[in-house]
Amino acid sequence: MILANACPRCRGALSHVMDIGEIYYSCVHCGHTVYGLPPSVSAVPVESRWQGRQAEDRATVRRRQIAKERARARRAAA
Ligand SMILES: [Zn+2]
Repeated sequence: MILANACPRCRGALSHVMDIGEIYYSCVHCGHTVYGLPPSVSAVPVESRWQGRQAEDRATVRRRQIAKERARARRAAA
């Protein structure tokens, strides 16, 4: 069983693991393990930061960083 967006650390998917002698939930993405009951999804705050954002390529991000650095340098010089 997979619990989507249930990892308290990275909001990744938790997988129900039935190992020898122990049963736990393990995050598919970061490896965080949760013993006992699965965390209540409603208790985990919804991260809305990335919702509605599109993926960008690295060149675009780097160009924006360079522009910010130049603007900061200009402000510092003025
Ligand atoms: Zn995780």
